[in-house]
Amino acid sequence: MMFPSTVAGSLPKPSWLAEPNKLWPQWRLQGEELAAAKLDATLLALKWQEDAGIDIICDGEMSRQHFVHGFLEFVDGIDFAHKVEMGIRADRYKAMVPVVRGELKLKGRVHQAEARHARVHTQRKLKITLPGPMTISDTIADAHYGDKIKMAMAFADLLNTEARALEKDGVDVIQFDEPAFNVFMGEVAGWGIEALHRAIDGLKCATAVHICYGYGIKANIDWKNSLGAEWRQYEEIFPALAKSRIGQVSVECINSHVPLKLLSLLDGKDVLIGVIDVATDKVESPERVAQVIGDVLKFVPKEKIVACTNCGMAPMRRDIAEAKLIALGQGAALARKKYG
Ligand code: ZN
Repeated sequence: MMFPSTVAGSLPKPSWLAEPNKLWPQWRLQGEELAAAKLDATLLALKWQEDAGIDIICDGEMSRQHFVHGFLEFVDGIDFAHKVEMGIRADRYKAMVPVVRGELKLKGRVHQAEARHARVHTQRKLKITLPGPMTISDTIADAHYGDKIKMAMAFADLLNTEARALEKDGVDVIQFDEPAFNVFMGEVAGWGIEALHRAIDGLKCATAVHICYGYGIKANIDWKNSLGAEWRQYEEIFPALAKSRIGQVSVECINSHVPLKLLSLLDGKDVLIGVIDVATDKVESPERVAQVIGDVLKFVPKEKIVACTNCGMAPMRRDIAEAKLIALGQGAALARKKYG
């Protein structure tokens, strides 16, 4: 199918599951009730996407409090009891982060429950996201490895274990979220891609990396305002990504200052283009979505284009996120008619 649609990953959590409109929400329930509620919310996420006509659907990340820490909770060797304040994404914002204090090991499966639940309840292609090794290493303090790259490679091996298991669960696409690639551009070719290759080692399913300019929170909006008229971060990292073994690259397009011609540097890759802005509550029209797809067509072959959101929608209002999903589905359908 031409211009299939998908989402970057997260969707707003229902208010009975967690505090709404927050990036780090508190859960409303505990224990078995919480575990059951997460799966109920996963079903809801599938239904929203199916009804909106989204083709490659996600679990909505309903089972994780945050896209990085949802993975870290399942890793031994990390001290969550004594968090420290750290400037993350090159000091763009401060966060209280846990500390690595020993050898990293998985406690068990991370996303098995929601992946299997989703697999049973939808016929559509299913994507599950994991945080990328560079982004994890930038969101945690190290008191054990003494070397950021060594620690990132240790995380990459754990991600690989979970990714292989997700593939066995029937997941069609495994995506690694690497917003840090847009911050530490010089390190991407050096070791960032090597870490991703370790994370996807042995996988036969589709693989993706998501590289954005962040959620629509104030620190990110202020940062974007400081980047000037043209955002050329992608120019530094796309050539290395084009040579990598990652199959798909998810990028921010609509309402961003990324020159679309940079997308031609991703030769050979499926490009998940952001046609929905997650930093504004204004809902895109299907015409506007189709127009962005049309603009990208000058630089990416049409069989390589997937319509996507710029980033996750976790902190958005639920009614707005649902309306944006519908615009995404309708806009991709309109583009199929116009350019298919
Ligand atoms: Zn993102």
